[in-house]
Amino acid sequence: MGIKVCKFGGTSMADGNIILAAAKIIEADEQRRYVVVSAPGKRFGGDIKVTDLLYACSDAYESGDEKAFQETFEKISVRFLNIETEIGRNLGVQESLDVVRKEILSGAGRDYCASRGEYLAAKIMAAVLNVPFVDATEFVRFTKDGALSEETFALGAEVLKKYPRAVIPGFYGLSAEGKVKTFSRGGGDISGSIVARSVMASLYENWTDVSGFYACDPRIVSSPKCIVKLTYQELRELSYMGANVLHSESIFPVRSAGIPIRICNTFRPEDPGTYIVKDWTDDGGDTVVTGVAGKKGFSIITLEKSLMNGEIGFVEKVLSVIVKHGISFEHLPSGIDTMSLVIDNEYLKDGQLAVLIEEMKEAVKPDKIYTHENIALVATVGHGMAKNVGTSARLFKALSEAGVNVNMIDQGSSELNIIVGVENEDCNTCIQAIYHEFFD
Ligand code: ASP
Repeated sequence: MGIKVCKFGGTSMADGNIILAAAKIIEADEQRRYVVVSAPGKRFGGDIKVTDLLYACSDAYESGDEKAFQETFEKISVRFLNIETEIGRNLGVQESLDVVRKEILSGAGRDYCASRGEYLAAKIMAAVLNVPFVDATEFVRFTKDGALSEETFALGAEVLKKYPRAVIPGFYGLSAEGKVKTFSRGGGDISGSIVARSVMASLYENWTDVSGFYACDPRIVSSPKCIVKLTYQELRELSYMGANVLHSESIFPVRSAGIPIRICNTFRPEDPGTYIVKDWTDDGGDTVVTGVAGKKGFSIITLEKSLMNGEIGFVEKVLSVIVKHGISFEHLPSGIDTMSLVIDNEYLKDGQLAVLIEEMKEAVKPDKIYTHENIALVATVGHGMAKNVGTSARLFKALSEAGVNVNMIDQGSSELNIIVGVENEDCNTCIQAIYHEFFD
């Protein structure tokens, strides 16, 4: 019988009653043997996630603001003690809080502090389910450079085989220096994936507050279709472009082992959810596009020079300028005598764009160099596009009818995506036009 690893996100751990509902889901299926949890998230609009409170706590401690520290820690304590009250039995929360407080005050560090939401939540879930708590530091390891260490999976297999069932806190592991280290925000999804890979699960269930992966952001198109099945590659493209149901790095651990992911809704467990699988199979359906997503805040630097195509090393010289500044690019569309670089505005703050332009002028002496600074990238993603003639014609016709001016086009050679660059202000119109063309 296969093993299922279940990861419950912040909204699924937000209060005692939701935790009890999550426990019921776990207990309804004996294959659900390993559980990974996030820290309690928001219970209502305007609420504060426990992880944010913990970061505030760490800031207060670092700046020596004792009053702010006490107040914030008190809020965290109340959150966890309320959960214990709602669950209705003594789960040892006060004792755990006392240890955490002492450790923070003895300088355990920012990542330690931020990770305690997951730690306490996992302790609670383990007590509710009456299964062992296994700390993530026992097997989730980082390298000196802060990347996930390959030894994690073998270590995870070794540690977890001692426990037929276990609850593990998400979001952190142990650094090469032996200290608690967290992933980037939302990293509990990566932890779930690590556990799934370690125990070679047959399924990684990611329980959240939506019934799957939507074909488009529901804030942009109302009630978009829920995707029944998509591939890791499609997911990666869509989540990189801002569709944020899952952390974009969370597929890597399960991908190499081909373990499917299911996105499920803790508040509607009967919904089928979305399956994320390794390979695309042409099931004969008429799906051309799997999803569309967009992200604002990019700039395009375009260089023009006659006979550029014959000038060996031109692109290398341009790229060496951004490499020197530690900048990576998103896309590099090129023509015979032109090339463009699409760069995230995060890299271009405080006059950095002007510096790059000067250095590129110096490096390759272009005839012309100019920029578009408020660009959004919109990705239309789907393996089905490759087998359907006329997909791009439909897409660009829809954009022209919606009055959207396209500044850049880039199509990946695998025909998995078509990316367009449009003005930031046209981003939503662009997404709506593409969605309506392919899904209505
Ligand atoms: N609690 C962490 C965060 O808020 C990690 C997670 O929820 O996955 O980012």
